[in-house]
Amino acid sequence: TARLAPRMSGAGSSPTAEISNKVRALTAAGHAVVNLGEGELDFPTPPAICEAGIAAIREGDTKYTAVAGTAQLKAAIRAKFARENGLVYTDAEVIAGAGAKQLIFNAFLATLATGDEVIVPAPYWVSYPDMVRLAEGTPVIVPCRPEDGWKLTPAALEAAIGPRTRWVVLNSPNNPTGAVYSPAEMKALTDVLAAHPDVLVMADDIYEHVRFGVPFATPAAVAPGLADRTLTINGLSKGYSMTGWRIGYAGGPAWLVSALQVLQSQSTSNPSTISQRAAVAALEGGLPFMEGWLATLRERRGIVLETVARTDGLSCDVPEGAFYVFADCRALIGTRRPDGHLIADDLGFATYLLEAAHVGVVHGSAFGTPGYIRIAYAVDTETLRAACRRIETACAALT
Ligand code: PLP
Repeated sequence: TARLAPRMSGAGSSPTAEISNKVRALTAAGHAVVNLGEGELDFPTPPAICEAGIAAIREGDTKYTAVAGTAQLKAAIRAKFARENGLVYTDAEVIAGAGAKQLIFNAFLATLATGDEVIVPAPYWVSYPDMVRLAEGTPVIVPCRPEDGWKLTPAALEAAIGPRTRWVVLNSPNNPTGAVYSPAEMKALTDVLAAHPDVLVMADDIYEHVRFGVPFATPAAVAPGLADRTLTINGLSKGYSMTGWRIGYAGGPAWLVSALQVLQSQSTSNPSTISQRAAVAALEGGLPFMEGWLATLRERRGIVLETVARTDGLSCDVPEGAFYVFADCRALIGTRRPDGHLIADDLGFATYLLEAAHVGVVHGSAFGTPGYIRIAYAVDTETLRAACRRIETACAALT
């Protein structure tokens, strides 16, 4: 009979993908559904970057490369880390993978023994806990509070560290809250970690460039003493609107990076050669488009914030980064839909918005924080306005 490995029991497929499936089903049935559930910018990949990928195909650059990335891409990654973060790595200390996701997954797989713990502050990106479980580790979820700006406090970090702690995951700007740790806040966390030399630091910087005027801080730069046990993860998906190209990269100690390389060499080999060429162009070309993108995102963020403020039962803080609003819907739990159904929890509320307003959002439970929804404002501005009006109308119909 068919039988899966025990390690499969702790993990399901991504809940954001499930929302997307429901959105597709409703769309196929002829409804004009707006998906504010996806963590993906609607902006096209900048043309110069696309041209570099096209040139790679035209020039026949379509074969295997070194597993950890071409020499050109590694040089571009090292230059990026040095230029933007003040982090100096050798070639042996950087690696490109098929998205930040592959590198994060492999980092857990390479380092966790059964029962090793990974500290994951909540709200968290949906994949961290399941990745830890698939690697047979134990996620230790540390709830963060809206009063603390949804940020992990040094005291909460200290309290969560135990003899089996292997990693702490720090994600700034944060998905789903948009919280951005200031340099001082990041320093306070690294001060705690300085006293725990066996704990590795996973810095997920994937939203680095999506910030609204606040500074960026990454642990290895704030605390150089931690650099030899910090894996700094970044990628092109969010900052360059290149989700489908599947290029992420990481910098960290050579022993860890070489283990990531081994895992890639026995699973996927090099990330797409064509995408690597595009990634070199992206990293070398700077981000001349970002100011315009941020202006658009700021306007959209305003639209969502106004909607939340106007809607009885919803509230939220102003996110400083990423492209999400994490809205409190606890006041609407226990209300009834026009069809008489009870809104029992945040999933029930998200389901109602999908069915009644034809707007897809992700329920907070998926991020380890029930009672909230994540609204991604990554669709064109007019569509967003229409979706927001529909959210407002649907909420007003609850009794
Ligand atoms: N980390 C966070 C916090 C994310 O939100 C995402 C994508 O949603 C990723 C990592 C993965 O990005 P990539 O497309 O590079 O695999």
